[in-house]
Amino acid sequence: MMLASRACAKAVSRQNCVRAFSTADKGWIPNVSLDTDIVHGGIVPCEKTGAILTPVYLSTTFVQESVDKYLDKGFSYSRTNNPTVSVLEQKVAHIENGHGSICVGTGMSATAACINAFMKTGDHCVITNCSYGGTNRICREQFQPFGMEFSFVDFTDPANVEAAIQPNTTLIFSESPTNPTITLADLDAISEIAKRRGILHVCDSTFATPYVMRPLDHGVDLTIQSLTKYYDGHNMGVGGALIAKTPELYERIKLVQNMHGSIMSPMTAYMMLQSMKTMGLRIRQQSSSAMKICTFLESHPKVERVRYPGLASHPQKELADRQHRDNLHGGMAMFDVVGGDQAAIKLMDTIKRPWTLCENLGATESIITACAVMTHANMLREDRMKVGITDGFIRISVGIEDPDDLIRSLDEALNQL
Ligand SMILES: *Cc1c(COP(=O)(O)O)cnc(C)c1O
Repeated sequence: MMLASRACAKAVSRQNCVRAFSTADKGWIPNVSLDTDIVHGGIVPCEKTGAILTPVYLSTTFVQESVDKYLDKGFSYSRTNNPTVSVLEQKVAHIENGHGSICVGTGMSATAACINAFMKTGDHCVITNCSYGGTNRICREQFQPFGMEFSFVDFTDPANVEAAIQPNTTLIFSESPTNPTITLADLDAISEIAKRRGILHVCDSTFATPYVMRPLDHGVDLTIQSLTKYYDGHNMGVGGALIAKTPELYERIKLVQNMHGSIMSPMTAYMMLQSMKTMGLRIRQQSSSAMKICTFLESHPKVERVRYPGLASHPQKELADRQHRDNLHGGMAMFDVVGGDQAAIKLMDTIKRPWTLCENLGATESIITACAVMTHANMLREDRMKVGITDGFIRISVGIEDPDDLIRSLDEALNQL
């Protein structure tokens, strides 16, 4: 076991994330940008065949030279490390500016791994009151009964986070922007509090993606990604990643992953390795389309409130501009229709393609969701209202279709309300 985990740490270390692969390789020009890195970072063509894409290794086990010696490739058993999944783990860590990452079956299993790795009975976590529904549920229903404590607080003011810290707080859990209310957390300010108080800071950055914002560049210790969303980007694969800033944190999450057997299949890793290469292109298109659609929505008489970090009306516009790169704010937005849940249901019933009615997000297809009657239907109305999920709350995930088609479809459906 000792040998296996040492070998595995070696296989996925950042130092190993080399770009040169043979003597014929002329090497790289220095300081390539994120756009180039998203395509090439962490990937080396196959040494044996020159295949430009990372091969899929479905083997469960890897031969040893002797009882205590592996073949110096860092692989022993696919729960501990798989060559295809390791490449994705290196690539994700590289893009997110971390030391290392673990890729697991879903976003939720990345969240569970994080809490399992850094909290035990008697420990306390300060967590946003406006997290992804599944995050809120696993804290309350899975971890609280094991004697871990959670304070759900409003993260829009970092002072609330500091005020909620207790002597037994080991973790601060941010999400920015939040699903579904598109609220931001000031990660630099919260990280400063975390550092000063000696507490770890983790951020679920699924809505932002590393193309819009990298939490680890804002003092955060660990990033959570639901790879199901923008990394995959095509409604094709489910996955999650937990990325660590330092070798020590990486060692801890890698051990937890191995103990839990919380891994990703090599086939899924192979698909993620390809689909994530277009993330930059997709996010640029989705950001510009979302801005155009939200500007249209703000002018429509059947729409009460639009929330998108690119709009001047967003209450955290200044933070959005400071925290998000290159004036990109992603493809997620929300609005309220006049007429509450009945209007929301009617909009879902009448809206035509290219909008698709379903629950995923972050894909090439534009998706529309009436949160109060769909994703958040089992939340108490009173609790829902407290975090701003009103009856007429509509979440949109803008795809890569022509934004004018998306606007025409929205206009037609809204005019029928
Ligand atoms: C979807 C989502 C998750 C959970 O990811 P899965 O891959 O569905 O398990 C976690 N956080 C956020 C912000 C999400 O949108």
